[in-house]
Amino acid sequence: MQIVVLAGGTGGARFLRGVRAAAPEAGITAVVNTGDDVTLHGLRICPDLDTVVYTLGRGIDEERGWGRAGESWTVKEELAAYDADPAWFGLGDRDLATHLIRTRMLDAGYPLSAVTAALADRWQPGVTVLPMSDERVETHVVVTDPEDGRRRAIHFQEWWVRHRAALDPSAFVQVGVEQARPAPGVAEAFAAADAVLLAPSNPVVSIGTILGIPGLRDALLASPARIVGVSPIVAGSVVRGMADRCLPAVGVEVSAEGVGRHYGGRRAGGLLDAWLVAEDDAADVPGVDVRRVPLLMSSPEAAAAMARAALDACA
Ligand code: GDP
Ligand code: CA
Repeated sequence: MQIVVLAGGTGGARFLRGVRAAAPEAGITAVVNTGDDVTLHGLRICPDLDTVVYTLGRGIDEERGWGRAGESWTVKEELAAYDADPAWFGLGDRDLATHLIRTRMLDAGYPLSAVTAALADRWQPGVTVLPMSDERVETHVVVTDPEDGRRRAIHFQEWWVRHRAALDPSAFVQVGVEQARPAPGVAEAFAAADAVLLAPSNPVVSIGTILGIPGLRDALLASPARIVGVSPIVAGSVVRGMADRCLPAVGVEVSAEGVGRHYGGRRAGGLLDAWLVAEDDAADVPGVDVRRVPLLMSSPEAAAAMARAALDACA
């Protein structure tokens, strides 16, 4: 059995861990958002790819949900002592080794997909981890600067990490997307899939960014597999993160039904064959098989049960 999962960072990684446990014999391919990627201190940082690889490779800090377990922060402290900008982004010492190797390989001319495969060689995530694209595509957020009242676009990381999503977003822009193509292996994975799952990742800045890569959505829809989505919204709230700040900016209600309708039914020009919502949520999505199941990944076992329900909906 071949399974493809579209994933962002934390929600995507935990769900992928569930899929791996639910289908240990399957070939699993993760297509991961790279719109959060950023260059800081000369280093190329790919937060969602790293969260997925660290989580599946047992290197993640479980509590924080990002970065390395047992992390130390000496370099960050030393940079702060130099007043080096930006001070708001947390780069741990262990994590830095990943970014150093990635940057060195990219500078040597390797595409991001090859770099990701090389890094995964150490972590053995048990799934094939692909970036959505080898081309650089960065999400920028259009906000109104509270100081001078002017509209400007800032990098997603600046909006999220520096401002804690406090500035109202009026749009999300994928800088560079026109030149981007799906990474090698992405279209092939969709074509060979028996099941395609949309992780309960942020529908705008994780799944939405992946789907924005020219050609990717068509390749997904051409898959012979059923496409099943999992709601990141439970009881009208995000479980973690800032999807509640992103969805209104694209005119989507913060609810399981809102996100389900945003993805839409496959037979009506959308994506979904089935949509999983939490047990106490109701969702009417025309033409879509809506199923109510427990949707909190409170433990690896709960995530595996969720993944099993998603795979059942693909059968
Ligand atoms: P990020 O890149 O780290 O922001 O992570 P993702 O985009 O992969 O996932 C963020 C989304 O995951 C948020 O919208 C959360 O609501 C959702 N999420 C996190 N934990 C859970 C969970 O246990 N259950 C469900 N259904 N969604 C979750
Ligand atoms: Ca992310």
